[in-house]
Amino acid sequence: MSKKKLKRVVVKVGTKVLTDSTNRIDRKVIKNLAEQVCALMDRKIEVVLVSSGAIGAGLGLLKLRKKGKSLSELQAIASVGQNHLMDLYNEYFNKKGYIAGQILLTQEDFNDRRRFLNIRYTLNTLFEYKAIPVINENDSISTEEIKCGDNDRLSGLVADFADADILVMLTDVDGLCDATGTLVNHLKAITGRVKSLCHGKGCEESTGGMITKLEAIKNASSAGIECVIAYGKKKNVILDIVDGKNIGTRIDAQERSLKARKRWIAFSLKPKGKIVIDAGAEKALVNNHKSLLSSGIKKASGKFLDGDVIDVVNLKRKVVARGLTNYSSKEIEKIKGLRSDKIEIELGYKDYDEVIHRDNLVIIEEQFMEE
Ligand code: GLU
Repeated sequence: MSKKKLKRVVVKVGTKVLTDSTNRIDRKVIKNLAEQVCALMDRKIEVVLVSSGAIGAGLGLLKLRKKGKSLSELQAIASVGQNHLMDLYNEYFNKKGYIAGQILLTQEDFNDRRRFLNIRYTLNTLFEYKAIPVINENDSISTEEIKCGDNDRLSGLVADFADADILVMLTDVDGLCDATGTLVNHLKAITGRVKSLCHGKGCEESTGGMITKLEAIKNASSAGIECVIAYGKKKNVILDIVDGKNIGTRIDAQERSLKARKRWIAFSLKPKGKIVIDAGAEKALVNNHKSLLSSGIKKASGKFLDGDVIDVVNLKRKVVARGLTNYSSKEIEKIKGLRSDKIEIELGYKDYDEVIHRDNLVIIEEQFMEE
């Protein structure tokens, strides 16, 4: 643990931590978490809580099971559960002189950079009021297209825009295990080898859950944030982590190599499609930090519009970059392989020479291939 004085911590709590064996919200867990959060606030360490459990709480209250529920049923269940969850947090926050401030987000809040930056102002003002921000996905309105995805990803994004010193991910396992099932206490970085541990036996219980955590941590740690994965039901787990005790799996903060706007492009936006580029264009982008021109493009896949974020893929189908495109997939299909001075002839107009300007392009160093 770094020795600098901590100012802000993001704590993410999963549904499995918050519920008991009968899948009901466990008051004892909420009390334990809320008291630790308040203890940190007393120490002038600001805490942002990213809490799951809206659907879990709703299912319990409505005496329903999740299996087979339609989207609109889950949305309704979440709207019942979310305020129950907030009531419980408030019950324990109030006892210590604090109050919760609820923020419910969808991917659309991240797509618009101004809206995205506004969330930070809300957080700062909540702290001025001694209120504790409690964040969740807005499950009662979110559909597949506008979903952030999961709360692991959401907590990584929150940790970045909240400028947190530590991201604590509380889950139902002790941390990341190696192939023999032994807990890994410390990692310098999330590499492909580390991610492959999630497919081994040691992590069986948490497979799926662990990979989304590692993806989120990879992004958060590249924003200079230390991350810890730990078992969430343990007494004082958050306080122990903040106090530097050797708990769970700790992942070092990386040096911030990307500026905030480029991190927003790389991590906060969800790619709407892909373009495949040739070897010459790959070299120009990766080695010479040039913009992407139409001449090096082989094809576009997926339907996207100008202004959307897209992945740039090499001939081996590896993602080499992500960026904001100046041209739609339809336009790119017409101008691929052409020199920039031929764009106007082909389209009848030309707004930009570059398909992706280098200011809007982020080189992805190491990325798992997704089909
Ligand atoms: N937002 C969901 C809920 O509160 C949980 C999603 C997740 O844990 O990834 O029920």
